[in-house]
Amino acid sequence: CQICLKTFPREYHLKLHQTIHCMEKPHKCQRCHKTFKTRWLASRHASKTH
Ligand SMILES: [Zn+2]
Ligand SMILES: [Zn+2]
Repeated sequence: CQICLKTFPREYHLKLHQTIHCMEKPHKCQRCHKTFKTRWLASRHASKTH
């Protein structure tokens, strides 16, 4: 997967997996590949994790 850099044995699994990236999580952490529903969650993650 180009978004979260996971790999899958079959292209079918990859496409199934990529549907999760289509869901509403527009706020992406700048330092890793995690995404969040709200900007608040993203900034909380960044201050706790990084
Ligand atoms: Zn992915
Ligand atoms: Zn992060």
